[in-house]
Amino acid sequence: MPNSRKLFNNAKKVIPSGVNSPVRYFEPYPFFTKKSNGAYIWDEDGNRYIDYCNGYGALLLGHRRKEILKAVTNQLKKGTLYCTPTSAEIELSNLIRANFPSIKKVRLVNTGGEATMTAIRLARGFTKKKKIIKFEGCYHGAHDSVLVKAGSGSAHNGISVSDGGLDEVSKNTLVVQYNNSEDLENTIRKNIDVAGVIVEPILANMGLILPKKNFLQDLRKITTQNDIPLIFDEVVTGFRVSPGGAQKHFGIKPDITTLGKALGNGFTIAAVGGKKEIMDLLSPAGKVYQASTFAGNPISVSAAISSIKELNKIKNKLYSKLERYNVRFTHALDDIATDLKISHQINFTSSMFQIFFTNKPVINYKTSKNANAKKFQKMFKILLKNGIFIAPSQFEVVFLSDAHTQTDLNRTLDVYQTALKSVKN
Ligand SMILES: *Cc1c(COP(=O)(O)O)cnc(C)c1O
Repeated sequence: MPNSRKLFNNAKKVIPSGVNSPVRYFEPYPFFTKKSNGAYIWDEDGNRYIDYCNGYGALLLGHRRKEILKAVTNQLKKGTLYCTPTSAEIELSNLIRANFPSIKKVRLVNTGGEATMTAIRLARGFTKKKKIIKFEGCYHGAHDSVLVKAGSGSAHNGISVSDGGLDEVSKNTLVVQYNNSEDLENTIRKNIDVAGVIVEPILANMGLILPKKNFLQDLRKITTQNDIPLIFDEVVTGFRVSPGGAQKHFGIKPDITTLGKALGNGFTIAAVGGKKEIMDLLSPAGKVYQASTFAGNPISVSAAISSIKELNKIKNKLYSKLERYNVRFTHALDDIATDLKISHQINFTSSMFQIFFTNKPVINYKTSKNANAKKFQKMFKILLKNGIFIAPSQFEVVFLSDAHTQTDLNRTLDVYQTALKSVKN
């Protein structure tokens, strides 16, 4: 890939490590993208890939979805940034509320990290307490209070607490084991100063890890008993697992919810919402400060409105189709790996899956870390060489989108087979 190599060498001179987000780097260098459409992404050397990275789950409806492009194009004619309120923000808030009954009021932000940062500040403002409990391996963005034993790129790069982060901050973040509600109970018992519990209801940043039966119900019970706000970080699962996210899927009402990724189907937008009495603490009426120049900008808002409307329109077909594709694919993949006698686990749900090279079920940070990541890296390279782009790390997830066809998936399975054969050796 001569063009990508050359571009990477140029990029390294002006961009740290040549990338604007660490997960984008992989050895020896990442491909540079020229364009994308539907289920595909093309690099600067003219190679086409079937895209399963899908903007880390953002592109649930595929690249350049026509309904969304139309809405955004219309808005472009009317302006890109006003920094005044618009009626479209009311419309979007109502669409979010209708899909997420636990959300009574919502504030729009730009990124998932901003949403979780605000959620945590709100929890602290509401309880007047200090400590936050998070689960090992959950990723909630790249800010200090949650960048402790986090998943995604920080797990991939072996960073437990980032250099430059303050001990004074990270010591107020207590880490407990995912899928272990007793650990949560014990930690709460030992700490009277807990302001909030934040969790990915489905852990999608250590590979894919599903909540055990009753784990989320237990979290809801324990936090309610102790008057601690429960924050569901649905930046990945919101709109992806169901139009009402994981909370709808599992029938649980958190106090605060964060949304991002699929909310704008490829446009920069995220949100934090929840109970009225918590959300009303935000400035200017309340004393919890939060602000952003680009929050609720009309371009991103038009993308999110059209995206949710489209999802609501096709939801009866979309979610069952993606699940059917996923079940069929992961079962076939399981058969291939079993026939090849490769120790493996496949975790999957709705439109997400991940394979791990280990003989132990992957249920938390430790068991995910114990899988053979070298084998995963080898598999990744062969997939890529054969036109399949998945996120370049064991600690990410493979995402299907509405744009993938059965033909794409058949082709993908063939390439996975080739890749698994060489992983075996
Ligand atoms: C990606 C992600 C975030 C951070 O979102 P950004 O938009 O990258 O800041 C937060 N929480 C979860 C669960 C995520 O997967």
